Amino acid sequence: MKKFIFLGVAVVLAVTVIYLNNQSPTSTPLISIAGTTMGTSYHIKLAAGSEAKIDSAALKAKIDARLGVIDAEMSTYKEQSDVSQVSRAAADAWVPVADETMTVLTTAQEISRISDGAFDITVGQLVNLWGFGPTLNLEDIPAQDKIKQLLSIVGYQKLELQAHPPQVKKSDAHITIDLSAIAKGYAVDAVAKLLLEEQLSNFLVEIGGEIITHGYKEHDKPWVIGIESPQANQRSIRKRLYLQDVAMATSGDYRNYFERDGVRYSHTIDPATGYPIKHTLASVTVIEDSCMRADALATAIMVMGPDKGMAFANRHQLAIFMLVKQNDKFIEKYSNAFTPYLNTKEVK
Ligand code: FAD
Repeated sequence: MKKFIFLGVAVVLAVTVIYLNNQSPTSTPLISIAGTTMGTSYHIKLAAGSEAKIDSAALKAKIDARLGVIDAEMSTYKEQSDVSQVSRAAADAWVPVADETMTVLTTAQEISRISDGAFDITVGQLVNLWGFGPTLNLEDIPAQDKIKQLLSIVGYQKLELQAHPPQVKKSDAHITIDLSAIAKGYAVDAVAKLLLEEQLSNFLVEIGGEIITHGYKEHDKPWVIGIESPQANQRSIRKRLYLQDVAMATSGDYRNYFERDGVRYSHTIDPATGYPIKHTLASVTVIEDSCMRADALATAIMVMGPDKGMAFANRHQLAIFMLVKQNDKFIEKYSNAFTPYLNTKEVK
């Protein structure tokens, strides 16, 4: 079956757009560093104004090395990663993992708890079954029996974490884990930390659509981010956001999916049913201090759908923006905590 993953040559297209920052020129040009990682692309913009001279090539080498470590630890696509080793482990065997893998696992489990299991990294086998994992081997819509069988090994409660030393065990050998909905956000936070350690304070980091902004684009001008209109066959900006010192992540059903008999099957799996999500929420954007949290929360809310997701966001005071399908249109919905971001005028 043909899978409609909107890949560039080798990268998953991001659902947010940062090139808007090139459209209003700054007096000192922004420095851009870009590359590929984790099956997608990354872009970094540095507003050089106040900082010492930047050696872009040396900085890019440090960023690539940092991303390489995270990829090696947390990828489902790499056999020796912590994630793959946990997935291959026997039941009740403790598997040592890196400190930062433990950080991501701990946050993943916390988001699973508060989202009542809507976010669940043990959906790994179902992600593969539906053809969205490393094997890309979907032949047909999976049989109900198979989905039911794999559902029996889904459940974040089946994982046990121990912080010192960092290690993980699972209650069933067949459980596999998938950090694809949280580790990119962690990587964004990690690159931001690296830039701060390099004494850089005005920057934007984006990996596969997950973003963090620090300081200003220029003097008192914030960074400009575009949330895409959730349409598969075109790229256009639906909403501009002006961000400073916050992270942002978006999940959507319109970039990574396949269609069969007019039905769209998205890569976001509902751990309660074992099926790709089926509702009218086309995309959700979450603004948080940590990109890791924003990334995971966006997937959790994408699973919950428009009504439950909005109630969850308001209950937890999360700043979220939704695009919800209504007939041929998309309507905008936002949580109470999102209102400060509705200012559509660039601050001068
Ligand atoms: P998000 O909404 O952020 O995440 C969706 C993904 O989360 C799904 O694809 C699925 O894997 C998982 N998921 C689905 N449902 C749930 C749920 N209910 N709870 C929790 N998780 C769920 N892709 C490649 O093609 N090649 C690579 O080499 C590659 N390497 C990677 C290495 C790392 C460390 C990571 C984190 C990802 C890698 N990816 C790779 C995957 C890819 O780049 C994206 O992370 C992936 O496509 C999902 O990101 P997203 O922002 O589109 O969706």
